[in-house]
Amino acid sequence: MDHASTTPLRPEVLAAMLPFLGEEFGNPSSLHYFGRRPHEALEQARASVASLINAKAEEVFFTSGATEANNWAIKGVAAAARHRPAHVITSAIEHYSVLHAVKTLQRQGARVTFLPVDRYGLVSPRSVAEAIDDDTALITLTHASNEIGTIEPVAEVAEIARAHKVPLHIDATQTIGNVPTDVAALGVDLATLAGHQFYGPKGTGALFVRKGTRLLPLLEGGLQESGRRAGTENVAGIVGLGRAAELAAAEVQQRAERLSVLRDRLREGLEARIPDLAFTGHPTQRLPGHVSLCIHYVEGESVLLMLDAKGIAAASGSSCTSRALKSSHVLEALGLEPGLANGSAMFSLGDGNTAEDVDYLLEVMPPIVERLRAMSPLRPGGN
Ligand code: PMP
Repeated sequence: MDHASTTPLRPEVLAAMLPFLGEEFGNPSSLHYFGRRPHEALEQARASVASLINAKAEEVFFTSGATEANNWAIKGVAAAARHRPAHVITSAIEHYSVLHAVKTLQRQGARVTFLPVDRYGLVSPRSVAEAIDDDTALITLTHASNEIGTIEPVAEVAEIARAHKVPLHIDATQTIGNVPTDVAALGVDLATLAGHQFYGPKGTGALFVRKGTRLLPLLEGGLQESGRRAGTENVAGIVGLGRAAELAAAEVQQRAERLSVLRDRLREGLEARIPDLAFTGHPTQRLPGHVSLCIHYVEGESVLLMLDAKGIAAASGSSCTSRALKSSHVLEALGLEPGLANGSAMFSLGDGNTAEDVDYLLEVMPPIVERLRAMSPLRPGGN
């Protein structure tokens, strides 16, 4: 129940990758025999990824994952900006791969506006409009937060961005492949995706760059990816990403519908069985399969360890920081009462989960919380 951190590789994806880890080892840039199949496979994968998001193949650039795509979009657009120092608009609930990239720009002299969110984690499109000024070079916004699941009003923000001729980048790592995501309908200029979030391999991703968007390279060197992202391609990984995109294109609608039903069963079940829970993120405008909450009077990590002992894998926040035990800037931005964020837990369901899995969690979790609360000095009247 931790698909927001990663998803398992589909057997069909592995099968598509294997030849490119074996006999088809050639460099796709080679003009000789060995380069031919890898080159074709790369371009087929590009078409598959483009088709999943309704882009043109030449607007898709492969990267080593979402982190690289986010860094590239942010640093590459800022570097190409006519206004220096540039102004960048983002939100208070971004993934670290966005947050740290904009903070680097800030240290280099850029002005950054961090937009607040409401208690559901929504950015207000009006606040975006108000933040734009003559120097604004980029708006970068998460499509959906991996921590609280809220899906942001990207189409409305895109309309505002377009009216002001400011490029809009979305971090669609959690949505693409899991929620039907059409970059043309949304009207965004750049979008980040990661293969491992929709049953493809880790270490693969792409940046969608609308034709005409000014963007300098992040990685310089050879002429791969039309000269915009240097380095010999991860051919097997990209082939896997392409195959995962084909499967997602066929299944995403049904996937989202099935997981939304399981999500609601999980949320309603927890609500009915455990008192003093505070669900985080938007109640309906959220990722399918994603339930996030704060459990009063307990530490989220304690709950997770006890769930792990029962065979349930869940997370207490972003997996990127889970080993640091830092309090989450995303939960802080929601304005939760102090201490509540310590009890954060998130369940993100995926293709392998069933209603029986949800019911098993609903059976084992209430006594765990009850036991921890009985020992907790945090509870009212506690020791
Ligand atoms: N953005 C979001 C919203 C994410 O959830 C993640 C990872 N789960 C990333 C970016 C970074 O992805 P990666 O670690 O694959 O580069």
